[in-house]
Amino acid sequence: MNFIETRGNDGKRPKEVQFSYVILNPSASFGGLYVPKYLPMLEEDFFKDAKKLNYKELTKKILSKFEIDIDEEVIDRAVCLYDKFENKDTPVPLNKVEDELFINELYHGPTKAFKDMALQPFGYILSDLAKKQKQNYLILAATSGDTGPATLDTFSDKENIKVACMYPDGGTSDVQRLQMVTTEGKNLKVLGIVGNFDDAQNALKTLLASPSFKDELEKQNIKLSAANSVNFGRIIFQIIYHIYGYISLLKERNTDEFYSIVPSGNFGNALGAYYAKKMGLPIKKILIASNINNILSDLINKGIYDLRGRRLLKTTSPAMDILISSNVERVLFDKFGANRCKELMDDLREKKFYRLTKDELEKLREDFDAIYCDDEFAKDTIKKYAEKGYILDPHTATTLKAYENLRAQNLPAIACSTAQWTKFAPTMLNAIKNDTLTYSDEVALKEFSEALHVEIPKSIKELFNKKIMHDKVVKQRDIEEEILNFIKE
Ligand SMILES: *Cc1c(COP(=O)(O)O)cnc(C)c1O
Repeated sequence: MNFIETRGNDGKRPKEVQFSYVILNPSASFGGLYVPKYLPMLEEDFFKDAKKLNYKELTKKILSKFEIDIDEEVIDRAVCLYDKFENKDTPVPLNKVEDELFINELYHGPTKAFKDMALQPFGYILSDLAKKQKQNYLILAATSGDTGPATLDTFSDKENIKVACMYPDGGTSDVQRLQMVTTEGKNLKVLGIVGNFDDAQNALKTLLASPSFKDELEKQNIKLSAANSVNFGRIIFQIIYHIYGYISLLKERNTDEFYSIVPSGNFGNALGAYYAKKMGLPIKKILIASNINNILSDLINKGIYDLRGRRLLKTTSPAMDILISSNVERVLFDKFGANRCKELMDDLREKKFYRLTKDELEKLREDFDAIYCDDEFAKDTIKKYAEKGYILDPHTATTLKAYENLRAQNLPAIACSTAQWTKFAPTMLNAIKNDTLTYSDEVALKEFSEALHVEIPKSIKELFNKKIMHDKVVKQRDIEEEILNFIKE
């Protein structure tokens, strides 16, 4: 399987590349992204046979259709990392919550957010490639809270890899911060940044553009790669759980179609659903839930992506607090081709907005519909479902808005649950007590778990007693020096 570029080719890079190249060099010509040249199709009787497969077997079966240039034994070992999940036999349980609402719980991995679904196998494959090529890589990551822990976990103590992870100081939950700053791998560096997530991401971009930084990396023979969802190596693993969710649904309900509901930020999860749909997964429509940073719901409802005069707003679903949603570009490319995609992305950079034509919007809406959800709705939903005995984290709660408002037909829906409640305990406690007090994560975890008789996993509980390995919080101007010192170690 070859990969091509969303904004066309600049004549300097290769025109078509393989999977291993894409994983190691995720940025394509003109600032674009890599996409598969075509998508493999699921055969007619795929679902009948697939019912017998467990999650690992299904992953291997689908990966084999992509014909990627990774050795089978490496894929085998990468996929075995799903054994680290809470329940080895069912790493991704599907939970029936209402008659037509099924929740695909994607958060049972080591760091308790769905980022583990892709980052666990992805990290293994990337490290293996680096080792075989005897090439050192620096992975830079800016995180709003969940990507950081999952990236650190997957690359911890891997040969040929160093990770520098930046989080906004005060912008993550205590649990998320502790997951990062107590991490022990010798090849990992975690830095708090003075500012918000946008500042952390800007700091990363500044670093990538800095000549002195580039020089030093070259001198040390270190290459750069990225672990966020611009890397197709992550997206490929995010196709599979959508397919698996439907297979699990079929065991409960005989249905030819379903809605897929995705709480969205950078659109990686939703893109996985879109690719799965194109491969033949019978999704009626992909329903996108965003929070009040509703740039995606505006695009899908009005055909305009508009950053003018917009500020990022803080919400109780911080992983969706995002205005520049990178993976939308892959859908634009798929629907409208490289020339138009480049034009739209250039508009966004130069004019801070782009507008689709009426026809284009119609095409987009063939596959997507969208709505946004405010914190009040999310909190009420958490409370309502907690009373019925099902716990939704604040991100997953946004999908209920889509479930209630966007289904045009009475078909079953599978909603993606993206994080465990334990990562956002103060919001959870506010929701069930209907108050607005400020709680620490430690207090909120205890109170919530007692009130609802749910366990806190050991890996979360022990965070509060672990040794802090990374205590630096730095200003943007000091980041380069900190990271250079780290790579010289
Ligand atoms: C990352 C994340 C999201 C957003 O996922 P995208 O693939 O970026 O759209 C939603 N919820 C949680 C809990 C996350 O960590």
